[in-house]
Amino acid sequence: MSLYTGLVSSVLFPLHEKLKKHDTLAIRKSLEQSQWLSADQLHDLQAKRLSAFVENIYRHVPYYRQVMEERQLTPADIQNAGDLRKLPFLSKNLIREHFEALKSDIAGPLNRFNTGGSSGQPLIFLLGNERVSHDVAEKWRATRWWGVDIGDREIVAWGSPIELGAQDKIRLARDKLFRSELIPAFDMTREKLLGFIERIRQVKPAMLFGYPSVFDLLAKTAEQNDIRMDNLGIRVAFVTSERLYPYQRENISRVFGCPVANGYGGRDAGFIAHECPQGGMHLSFEDIVVEIVDPQGTPLPPGQSGEIVVTHLGTSEFPFVRYRTGDIAALSDKACGCGRGLPMLESIEGRSTDFVVAADGTMMHGLALIYILRDMEGVDAFKITQESLQHTHVDLVVKTGLTDKMTQRVQDGFKARLGQGVDISVCEVSEIPAEKSGKYRYVVSKVAS
Ligand SMILES: [Zn+2]
Repeated sequence: MSLYTGLVSSVLFPLHEKLKKHDTLAIRKSLEQSQWLSADQLHDLQAKRLSAFVENIYRHVPYYRQVMEERQLTPADIQNAGDLRKLPFLSKNLIREHFEALKSDIAGPLNRFNTGGSSGQPLIFLLGNERVSHDVAEKWRATRWWGVDIGDREIVAWGSPIELGAQDKIRLARDKLFRSELIPAFDMTREKLLGFIERIRQVKPAMLFGYPSVFDLLAKTAEQNDIRMDNLGIRVAFVTSERLYPYQRENISRVFGCPVANGYGGRDAGFIAHECPQGGMHLSFEDIVVEIVDPQGTPLPPGQSGEIVVTHLGTSEFPFVRYRTGDIAALSDKACGCGRGLPMLESIEGRSTDFVVAADGTMMHGLALIYILRDMEGVDAFKITQESLQHTHVDLVVKTGLTDKMTQRVQDGFKARLGQGVDISVCEVSEIPAEKSGKYRYVVSKVAS
């Protein structure tokens, strides 16, 4: 028996078998073993799971049966992540169009889930138990990297009224697993913010979980009111769902006295990547195949930014295969200092709509504009809307009233980035409303999207 076969039979096969169990605890234990495998071993394990997954959906999911027959493919043609490009991308529109045909004929109970999405139409899809157990186990593994375990108290700040209304299984499973309390963080008035701060002080959670914008706002409010939050024993703030800006990380960390751990994922795409204490953005590699593709759909090598496309191997009951997330990132080919073999994302640059385009066509991250406003005295909140290449609009919430001098500074700073001929309008507003989804977007470009 070769060394490789020995490895497959002694390590990878048992791990694969354990990962097939739909029991969150067993999956979490198995993930905690596999995270220490080498990157090569993890690729083998992932390939093994991928090929079993493809076999399963070929047999039982009418849509994929048809897609593969049309392309004259059999499961044997898809043996590893590289072979996935033989299959088409899955978009929100295709899910809507083929909803019934995407259900496995051997699916167990499925729960309907509805995500608002940060833009566009809501997506309705189905979640099976297998997928829920894997998503919960992946999150559980990541919280344990930060010393937070099942049973530790957690405060969840969720901004979306849509998601709060949903009777979704992930939430129920999570609430059972974690002693979790929810802060409905939308339409936040000053009184509500102070109420949440008080609640966090009473609960003394081990972990905060939710939108970075919400915890940043809570941190700012606590600081303005001289309320200490760094003596509650909070071990980590897990942030997700929005881009985490460096200034938010710094504020949250300083005020709550804990590190900030960035996560990337969505209800639709799954728990895709999470930061370890050494700063590596590790993929949930055993469960999710990540491809980075250019605008033509061609997979890109590590180091090059493109759209994140995911194949979730726990979704055989309602498959997500090459699902386009609309988010931008690059894969890393580096190893992490923590010693885990789990491959990493190099950077997550946010949604394509977080970018703005200068008059000369240069794409730049909205952060370039955000920093101009962050540095200005008296600016409490803002929203930047790039209406066209020639016109960008800025809404500002200003503590002491907008002065001509401030307007001039915004216009000078923005023109320096976007082009001298660009018209910059500045308007004072009393508040910046959240998007319909409940998320805050600080930069909206009608040009870049
Ligand atoms: Zn690491």
